[in-house]
Amino acid sequence: MKLNVKNIRYVSPEDWRVLTATEMGSRNHEIVPTPLIAQIASIRSGTGVHKSISALAKIGLIAKVKNAKYDGYRLTYGGLDYLALHTHTKSSTIYSVGNQIGVGKESDIYVCASPSGRNLVLKIHRLGRISFRTVKANRDYLRNRSSGSWMYMSRLAALKEYTFMQALRREGFPVPEPIAQSRHTVVMEMIDAFPLRQIASVPDPAGLYSELINMIVKLAQYGLIHGDFNEFNILVEEKHGEEGTPVTLIPTIIDFPQMLSVSHVNAEYYFDRDVACIKRFFSRRFAFTSDEPGPFLKESMKTMTKRLDVEVEATGFSKKMAKELEKYMKEVGVDGDATALERDGDEGEEDAEDVDPEENEPEDPDAPEENVKDADTAKPSTTSPADPST
Ligand code: ADP
Ligand code: MG
Repeated sequence: MKLNVKNIRYVSPEDWRVLTATEMGSRNHEIVPTPLIAQIASIRSGTGVHKSISALAKIGLIAKVKNAKYDGYRLTYGGLDYLALHTHTKSSTIYSVGNQIGVGKESDIYVCASPSGRNLVLKIHRLGRISFRTVKANRDYLRNRSSGSWMYMSRLAALKEYTFMQALRREGFPVPEPIAQSRHTVVMEMIDAFPLRQIASVPDPAGLYSELINMIVKLAQYGLIHGDFNEFNILVEEKHGEEGTPVTLIPTIIDFPQMLSVSHVNAEYYFDRDVACIKRFFSRRFAFTSDEPGPFLKESMKTMTKRLDVEVEATGFSKKMAKELEKYMKEVGVDGDATALERDGDEGEEDAEDVDPEENEPEDPDAPEENVKDADTAKPSTTSPADPST
């Protein structure tokens, strides 16, 4: 399912109301009954609502469910994408959406621009997608669940990522500046750098190695384990100084939906795995092996600085949410890049197969730079009847 922003300008204010109503209705209805959509949108049942419904269905933002017992619609991933973009546009966070720069297993990454022309990254979480590609058992499992659950879980993943990024950024960790979050999307600073995975050689492997290992230790001293700390999730910026001076490498850490607390029952396993990923990569790619054993979680935790894990739980991403998300990720086989690395070895290829779990989704293979402003207003408007911005 690709983001296709081409149609966003044709969505009228009334259509937005109806789309929002469908979203609200899907909190407790897998298929939202048409009269309920009309009721929530406060549009008298009649031509208005039906006109909007068919307009939205035509561009794949809502979909009629085959063989349903009653007349109703479900929100599609495309619909959720539009609602999130609409929120980011109205808040003047995003002005336009450009190229897709990344297709993760659980997310799509787009470059976008703020109204002042600043380049940003829009990360759209698409949890459960991987399971449609690979494990049959998971596919059956998902089929038997409401479509609402992957939507809800993708929202949770975005909220988790955003909340942790805010906390980490506040404490001075090298993470992109988190800018906004709505539904299953996070908007953040764009880092002008390549993942470590794409870097063939570095001037000082030992220096970069200890910087990264120290980061894992420092995270633990703040109560956290990244959980997917590897060459895909470390962006390395090359800073060229004066002629003759060596290039300096500045690492930035990304991708936080799997972050966990040092109090997690499997904390040690994930800490060791993060360390092992870095060790393996440095040895294979840069032929660098550290003489020192460890680091170890217990050792690292002897000097705790702060408990960001506890802070985050209290401020935005509750323990209950963390449990729900973790359970779902386990059930559908979401385990970041680290597992793929373990399975395929260092040079393992990414799974190229892509089966679309959504029907009725419009596809646009050559998504050009698109303006995402409202149809009816020259500037992103700030008034909307019902927008449960998250
Ligand atoms: P996933 O969970 O799908 O692995 P990531 O957050 O790791 O998603 O992003 C996937 C890829 O997108 C990264 O490897 C990187 O190349 C690119 N990317 C993600 N966030 C940024 C950013 N803030 N700046 C620049 N590139 C980014
Ligand atoms: Mg990643």
